[in-house]
Amino acid sequence: MAETRRPIVIGNWKMNGLVDSAVELEATIAANGQGAPCEVMICPPATLLFPFSQLIQGSALRLGAQDCHMAENGAHTGDLSAAMLSEAGATAVIVGHSERRADHGESDAVVRAKAEAAHGAGLTAIICVGETGAQRDAGGAETVVGTQLEGSLPSVLRAENTIVAYEPVWAIGTGRTPTIADIEAMHGFIRRRIEALQGDVAHGIRLLYGGSVKPGNAAEILAVANVDGALVGGASLKAADFSGIFGIYT
Ligand code: PEP
Repeated sequence: MAETRRPIVIGNWKMNGLVDSAVELEATIAANGQGAPCEVMICPPATLLFPFSQLIQGSALRLGAQDCHMAENGAHTGDLSAAMLSEAGATAVIVGHSERRADHGESDAVVRAKAEAAHGAGLTAIICVGETGAQRDAGGAETVVGTQLEGSLPSVLRAENTIVAYEPVWAIGTGRTPTIADIEAMHGFIRRRIEALQGDVAHGIRLLYGGSVKPGNAAEILAVANVDGALVGGASLKAADFSGIFGIYT
């Protein structure tokens, strides 16, 4: 089934940025003009969501958060609920990033519960999956990613509230990327897998590639079939680099 999927480029600032990073945010807003042909989103640390929400008013730039708790409220010291992130200005939240899966032991079931919490608060869930280098070397990349999809995706999805990001763990922050053929094969696999799990909604869900995307390799990667945008870490911290990536779509 043919579907129009509007591309989206998302910057994940991770644990980087203070209020004076607004200079970079403003440069990104300026580079985005009245809105590029793709959507552009920054996911800053949660402390910056509210001040940044004031700065982006009137611009096409969107804000997302980097994680949420699965519960609506309660005794969870230091955590933030999806509704809190929404109130602070986020319209989306990343769940299941490999750094959360590794650093905080987040299982597929936890990632699914967080994605459901995001949906419950009206946020788009950006659900991350991806294999380690050892898993790819052992020939198990598709098995790992297929299992993560099966365990992490909520049972009810809409194309408008769900984005899936394929981020091979070995490519994150390393400067290494899969071959174009490998990206195409994995994105095709992910689309088919979501279709097998959820049916036709799979054709409207945007699939992002993430892992060492830079201005120099973005054109080639973003042109791949079933790549509907990128999740960008390091290169999103400098507006010039980030706009060199989403600017590919103009
Ligand atoms: C990420 O961590 O989501 C990511 C894609 O990082 P980088 O672009 O720095 O590899």
